[in-house]
Amino acid sequence: MSDLPRVALVTGGSRGIGRKVAERLASDGFEVFLTYVSRPEEADKVVAAIEADGGKARAFRLDSGDRDAIAGFFRDEIKGKATLEVLVNNAGITRDGLMMRMKDEDWDTVLRINLTGCFAFLKEASKIMGKQRFGRIINITSIVGQMGNAGQANYCAAKAGLIGLTKSAARELAGRSITVNAVAPGFIQTDMTDQLPEAVVQSMLAQIPLNTLGQSEDIAAAVSFLAGPGAGYITGQVLGVNGGMYM
Ligand code: NAP
Repeated sequence: MSDLPRVALVTGGSRGIGRKVAERLASDGFEVFLTYVSRPEEADKVVAAIEADGGKARAFRLDSGDRDAIAGFFRDEIKGKATLEVLVNNAGITRDGLMMRMKDEDWDTVLRINLTGCFAFLKEASKIMGKQRFGRIINITSIVGQMGNAGQANYCAAKAGLIGLTKSAARELAGRSITVNAVAPGFIQTDMTDQLPEAVVQSMLAQIPLNTLGQSEDIAAAVSFLAGPGAGYITGQVLGVNGGMYM
């Protein structure tokens, strides 16, 4: 056993789903490294909450859209300094609009952060985990990557692409005891969904058999399971956490 810290890296761990995932993995015993891009004060709050609970965490400003910065982060903060047991590719954004009117820039930005960014983290993590011959990678996709959604062609394409990336990486990395799975949240109450008009929220609720919005804790529980000892024989799967909205 190495005496390096057992790290779980959570991208976009400063708010919403990522925050709850970070807190849950810290309570599972990992030292959590979380990334953010624009709100250091939110990231600091998560670190403080984890430490107040007796856990360990560090926050890093690291733009998921910057591949060079991601490579540099692994070189400076992970390689030789941590046993990277878990990667959670959670950071994501929306730039919604109907396809016919969607700006090229909004397409490019969403694909760069939500898909290419995940690839960059996965690529770097797989080198480290490959040497360790152990790792758990969990990609946060979305129900709309499975179903499609009017007004979100860029986001849905990125999230569907992330499912393909998950399955390919699962096949490539299985020989080194690295599992790669995706969690596909349905409609979860966070800053991302708080922006939606009440009429949209009501029409979503009507499509959810369990008749309630999901909470970030519901996603954190699924991630904790996939990162934990009970999930060692699960790879290449998409675990829907959606109240039955998509079956
Ligand atoms: P959120 O509340 O908007 O939080 C997004 C997080 O990602 C923040 O910590 C943010 O940090 C970070 N982030 C954004 N852009 C980044 C970048 N370029 N580099 C690094 N970090 C970045 O989002 P959420 O609702 O929790 O969603 C989390 C994930 O779940 C996303 O991948 C989303 O697509 C997926 N998801 C959400 C839902 C839902 O209903 N909420 C449903 C399905 C899937 P800053 O605060 O510093 O910007």
